Amino acid sequence: MTGNDRPIVVGGGAAGLAACLTIESQGHAPILLEASDRLGGRLRTERMADGTPVDVGFQVLLTAYPELHRWVDLPALDPVAFVPGARIRKHGRWKTLADPRRLPGSLLATLTSGVGTWGDRIRILRLVREACSGSAESVQDGLTTGSTAEFLQTRGFTNDFIRDFLGPFFSGIFLDARLSPPPAQFLYTLRMFASGAVVRPAAGIEALVRQLAGRLERTEVRLGTRVVAVSAGRVELECGEMVKGSGVISSVERRSEVEWNSCFNAVFETKAPRFGQPIIGLLPDAACVTNVHFMEDIQGEEGRGKLNVTALPGSKGVGDVLAMERRVRHDLEAAGLQPGAMLWHTIIHKALPQLDAVRSSLEILRNEAGVYLAGDHVAAPSLDAALRSGRLAAESWMTRP
Ligand SMILES: Cc1cc2nc3c(=O)[nH]c(=O)nc-3n(C[C@H](O)[C@H](O)[C@H](O)COP(=O)(O)OP(=O)(O)OC[C@H]3O[C@@H](n4cnc5c(N)ncnc54)[C@H](O)[C@@H]3O)c2cc1C
Repeated sequence: MTGNDRPIVVGGGAAGLAACLTIESQGHAPILLEASDRLGGRLRTERMADGTPVDVGFQVLLTAYPELHRWVDLPALDPVAFVPGARIRKHGRWKTLADPRRLPGSLLATLTSGVGTWGDRIRILRLVREACSGSAESVQDGLTTGSTAEFLQTRGFTNDFIRDFLGPFFSGIFLDARLSPPPAQFLYTLRMFASGAVVRPAAGIEALVRQLAGRLERTEVRLGTRVVAVSAGRVELECGEMVKGSGVISSVERRSEVEWNSCFNAVFETKAPRFGQPIIGLLPDAACVTNVHFMEDIQGEEGRGKLNVTALPGSKGVGDVLAMERRVRHDLEAAGLQPGAMLWHTIIHKALPQLDAVRSSLEILRNEAGVYLAGDHVAAPSLDAALRSGRLAAESWMTRP
């Protein structure tokens, strides 16, 4: 197949979709090659045996993501907003820590929670102010040396506050128990949390994919098409076919290019009382569980009696499902969450890329073969970064000399 002004986009995740929509907006007709049988990549919602939708890896949309507003009609996704804060399981009770700036009613509970000291609360407010000042790019391109864990220590947070709140909260976001991402990634994430809402589409995260894919008009989508080699003007498919185009944008990581964080996500039956509002629960004393939520709080009746759990494999690795289930069950029992049958589970080996630095991707990323690069693994581990990288790669292709 040949094409004179038809760029090839490899990978139909968020980055590939944003690239195709950008290219279409200038009147071009890209060819999108996707290895699997569906678009969306890591944005995926499955149905449990009883039909309840469950996201393959618990994920949320932060409405402050600048790129989201370019592409997504949020109200059309019927978003359910999370309470800005968390319930923290300490000494057999749930304590509430919420952002009193946005939830004034939570002030008393937060102040009397016993999580952290007064100094910790002042420090976190200062840090929020710091993260929210200047441009989003300056925050992302800022502090890249050291880890978030080291950064929090240097900012004077007590070990208790890190162990009880910052650690479990951000390890669930980074999918990294050691909080190794650079401070810039932490500050950017904090900025996004502090300046917008945290939502989940009512029908699950894949609703976003349906919305984006539904807007493609000129793109030739080829599913079940695995690319094995790319160069500036053509790609080779697994089946041996060559596809030529007027440029190649690849949102697919080259083998061994980056290391990935993995996670285990499962749904358990539970008889434990739910929170009664959409909020995340943190288990600071747990060995592998980072966060939980009662699905009924977010999905209503269909989520009744179901606890959604995210766990990190740690140094032992994900291993087999039985071993992971045992460890998770132990954590849930210790927290009084009364786990019954495990109704659904998934292991995601390549959940989030480990990056030494996050890039606002303002520079053009092209590899030595002249291929434009996109995907969260070249920018930052988030949906926002994936969408932005796809757009910027497409814009770079369109404005090429
Ligand atoms: C458990 C989990 C929780 C997350 N939580 C959040 C969150 O709360 N908030 C947030 O902003 N982000 C979150 N993310 C991150 C977000 O989902 C990703 O950053 C984003 O979806 C990445 O999009 P992408 O297009 O870069 O990559 P992908 O989605 O991985 O897309 C790549 C596509 O390329 C295809 N492909 C691979 N190899 C080939 C090949 N050889 N030929 C053709 N096609 C190929 C794949 O099938 C895939 O469809 C989370 C991710 C996970 C897994």
